[in-house]
Amino acid sequence: MNYQPDNIFAKILRGEIPNDTVYEDDEVLAFRDIGPQAPVHVLVIPKGEYGSLDDFTRDAPAELVGRFFQKVGEIARRLGVDGEGYRVIANTGHNGGQEVQHFHIHICAGRRLGRMIARE
Ligand code: 5GP
Repeated sequence: MNYQPDNIFAKILRGEIPNDTVYEDDEVLAFRDIGPQAPVHVLVIPKGEYGSLDDFTRDAPAELVGRFFQKVGEIARRLGVDGEGYRVIANTGHNGGQEVQHFHIHICAGRRLGRMIARE
């Protein structure tokens, strides 16, 4: 899929839109979701131009993919949610309900999250 550089997370990475950063290094940025669905709701994104989990796992080097997911776990521990548990979500594509076309992982925590998938 062609990466669209005008997506909202690309603007956040370029500093054009402010964000509430919880972790940043040269490869990833983690920041609080603007519309939290749980007491803790953090988005983790790679700084590279990957439109979805499909693109990321297809195009990124395996070492980068591995480090990214290690950092998701590390960020959850930094947030202090590893003890009580949390949910990781990667909405992918149309049926996955992906709204922002830059690959991102949701970390949701802080309450029991109920059913895995709500029926509409
Ligand atoms: P998706 O449905 O693509 O998996 O999730 C996109 C997420 O991005 C949503 O949870 C939405 O609340 C969040 N979001 C959209 N725009 C912004 C923004 O400008 N700032 C932040 N921090 N989150 C955003």
